[in-house]
Amino acid sequence: MEKMDRNDPLEMALEQVDIAAERLRLSPGMVGKLKSRQQEITVQFPVKMDGDEIRIFTGYRVQHNDIRGPYKGGIRYHPDVSLNEVRALAMWMTWKSAVVNIPFGGAKGGVICDPKTMSATELEHLTRRYTWQISSMIGPERDIPAPDVNTNPQVMAWIMDTYSTMKNRTVPAVVTGKPLELGGSVGRHEATGKGVFITGAEAAAHLGLSLEGARVVVQGAGNVGGIAAKFFQDAGAKIIAISDSTRGIYNEKGLNMDEVFVCKSRYKCLIGEQLKAEEITNAELLELDCDILVPSALEGQITGENADRIKARIIVEGANGPTTPEADRILYDRGVFIVPDILANAGGVTVSYFEWVQNLQNLLWSEEEISEKLTSILKRSFREVLDISEREKVDMRTGALMLGIKRVADATRFRGFYP
Ligand code: GLU
Repeated sequence: MEKMDRNDPLEMALEQVDIAAERLRLSPGMVGKLKSRQQEITVQFPVKMDGDEIRIFTGYRVQHNDIRGPYKGGIRYHPDVSLNEVRALAMWMTWKSAVVNIPFGGAKGGVICDPKTMSATELEHLTRRYTWQISSMIGPERDIPAPDVNTNPQVMAWIMDTYSTMKNRTVPAVVTGKPLELGGSVGRHEATGKGVFITGAEAAAHLGLSLEGARVVVQGAGNVGGIAAKFFQDAGAKIIAISDSTRGIYNEKGLNMDEVFVCKSRYKCLIGEQLKAEEITNAELLELDCDILVPSALEGQITGENADRIKARIIVEGANGPTTPEADRILYDRGVFIVPDILANAGGVTVSYFEWVQNLQNLLWSEEEISEKLTSILKRSFREVLDISEREKVDMRTGALMLGIKRVADATRFRGFYP
């Protein structure tokens, strides 16, 4: 048998299914169905770079499961994108949509590229050509992409424009996370970070930890980590450290998030000197003494290797898959409370759902409506996951997986198999 790589995201995702499926007593046939992917595509395509040179890029779209509704999930641009990573992320989207009980399945896309070294024109060419290559797989009732690592509303606008041009009509509902000017929803931009805060605050309340003065450490200063940090700070917590892909910065007295944003936009990275903070590595940041740790970057950050040294009391997973199953066991034994990714960062796909619903009906909801609906869905989901984890005496991740996977398995049984 091939040796299993414990830090391979797909191996992690499959192991998580086994853990939940055993508790749910699912049949081997059902487990096989849930672990398998319905469709996946690898595309290689040429992009004309600024110097007129042609470069070939590789991209993926993986459609894991659409039993409960159209496939849904973001598109990631990153040099480390791999097919197994996209497969894992697609599977996590299926469970995530089911945990918050919105009528979507799960998919994910990715392109191997380094957007930090590419111009806006090159990114536009890459996005349009990738969209064209996956265009037969996507659509408002089929598969609806959204932003993920290194993609943003502008990228979504290019996808929507390319798809609409191909169809000879404007199709806003083909993607979510669009600019407001093109049918994007108010509240979508901050939804993931806000959801991380809402579920993190629920966890703190459950454990009797006051947010006033709580020490929070955030890995990632982008759309998820940066925004979550701002919400925690506004609630009275102290952001003692935050990082980006280059480094972390640390100040025990607390950082000012508004200054962090100014530094990021001016210098494109965090600079200790500018922010009156000590520079540390991302690895050191994870092990800082704190109350709440918010990993909001990439997968496989908390592993069997460093889990023993994590000092946080609560971990709120802004990223997808930051903690390996081996680390989960160590942290659970040590009493660390984890709000798992498929619950903690589900605010993004939840407001994506609101955006899609508004687009299909040509409606515009208010910010208050969106915020109220998002908060109530996340609080209810947190409570449901907590109830399962207490009843079954399992960690919150297993509770969330049991909730999500059971919903998908039940829907599968009702539909049956055709032919
Ligand atoms: N990429 C985000 C996630 O991982 C959002 C997905 C969406 O809105 O469809 O949840």
